[in-house]
Amino acid sequence: MSQRAIALPTCVSCNRVIMPNDRCVKFNCPRCNKFLIWRCESCREFARMYRCKECGFEGP
Ligand SMILES: [Zn+2]
Ligand SMILES: [Zn+2]
Repeated sequence: MSQRAIALPTCVSCNRVIMPNDRCVKFNCPRCNKFLIWRCESCREFARMYRCKECGFEGP
């Protein structure tokens, strides 16, 4: 099988690529509602900070 570079989402907190079988969460930015925020399992668990790339909103 060849590994193709497909656009996988990355965690906004740690920049790790999120695999389809990860128990990650995704939600729209609570402030601007435009940017889709992806968080990996570990960042969700440790409540790491995230930052919206659209409006700069930061939250736990
Ligand atoms: Zn992460
Ligand atoms: Zn935002």
